[in-house]
Amino acid sequence: MNPIKKSDKLNGVCYDIRGPVLEHAYRLEEEGHRILKLNIGNPAPFGFAAPDEIIQDVIYNLPNAEGYTASKGLFAARKAIMQECQRIQVPGVDIEDIFLGNGASELIVMAMQALLNNGDEILVPAPDYPLWTAAVNLAGGKARHYLCDEQSDWFPDLADIESKITDKTRGIVVINPNNPTGSVYSQDLLESLVELARRHNLIIFADEIYSKILYDDAEFIPMGKLAQDVLCVTFNGLSKAYRLAGFRSGWMVISGAKHRARSYIEGLEMLASMRLCANVPAMYAVQTALGGYQSINELIVPGGRLRDQRDAALKALADIPGVSCVKPRGAMYLFPKIDLNRYKIKDDQQMVLDFLIQEKVLLVQGTAFNWPNSDHFRIVFLPREDDLTKAINRFGDFLSRYSQ
Ligand code: PLP
Repeated sequence: MNPIKKSDKLNGVCYDIRGPVLEHAYRLEEEGHRILKLNIGNPAPFGFAAPDEIIQDVIYNLPNAEGYTASKGLFAARKAIMQECQRIQVPGVDIEDIFLGNGASELIVMAMQALLNNGDEILVPAPDYPLWTAAVNLAGGKARHYLCDEQSDWFPDLADIESKITDKTRGIVVINPNNPTGSVYSQDLLESLVELARRHNLIIFADEIYSKILYDDAEFIPMGKLAQDVLCVTFNGLSKAYRLAGFRSGWMVISGAKHRARSYIEGLEMLASMRLCANVPAMYAVQTALGGYQSINELIVPGGRLRDQRDAALKALADIPGVSCVKPRGAMYLFPKIDLNRYKIKDDQQMVLDFLIQEKVLLVQGTAFNWPNSDHFRIVFLPREDDLTKAINRFGDFLSRYSQ
């Protein structure tokens, strides 16, 4: 009998953060090994509890969450997001411009499905959060990767972006604060990106899921505040700052040149209605989260757990010869560089797999983020300082004896 094959639509669709190396880690766990997972930005398993008032509110509202809501989601939650937009000075956002989803992930896929015809292009950063590339390709589009420049705090290279624009380019993805680099973009840079989008008639897709996870003097400037005459679709949610990744609760806000996007917005509404609505209990978390005590602020100041863990991880990395890392000013990741003149690495996925097998620590290879070379990897700095330091020291020992 013929084998049952997956759809050709999945060619070019790849999400290697949960790829073959993770499968191997699960097998090792089944054999009884303890694996330290530095691979996924999932705060709860590392003891980052969600604010209790949110949990209590969701419990209280569970009996009200039995039915479907409107396709765009619960009115009170969307109203709270609308007020949040006012607070951060994103103008002109109405209740109808807000869609709730099962995490930002669902809405990212929807935003691409509703827009792209076969062969349309979207500018996606390299390195990227790989869902973006996968979502573009799944929708029949083509992700064109623009370089972020490690020498300039990982800021996007404007000339490289410009050189990749064609008559098929429909939009540009901007991830700020960035995963995996931790870069937080300046107002000047954001204004240049808006100007470029204006000149080439591009939609801006602003992934701002880390907007409240900032260190040192980093300031977050929402794209929607600057892109008032350009169509801007912004993504955010409860997974990171509110440590509720398992609730699958995110949102998408449409701002700027909405009047030119009626057909696209109709497409989004159609896709939202086909899946009826997002998970309703989690929608009850939104209003309390946005309006309540912002406990994330305690974690990111000096002495706060996240910020101290970042510093401990940076310090341990600095002790490895031939490894360097730009200091992240946002999010929860490090994206260090390995000097390939010193270490012979040809295939970074194999390197990460070998490290897993030898040291039982799980990292993600840089190429999983559509980075073109085998010279980077990503660490999640969610574990406690001791665990992080031990894991990074082990990586240094591993590298010193590793050669492919
Ligand atoms: N965007 C970025 C940049 C992310 O890092 C993540 C999760 O890691 C997401 C979107 C997806 O978030 P959600 O849990 O809301 O689907």
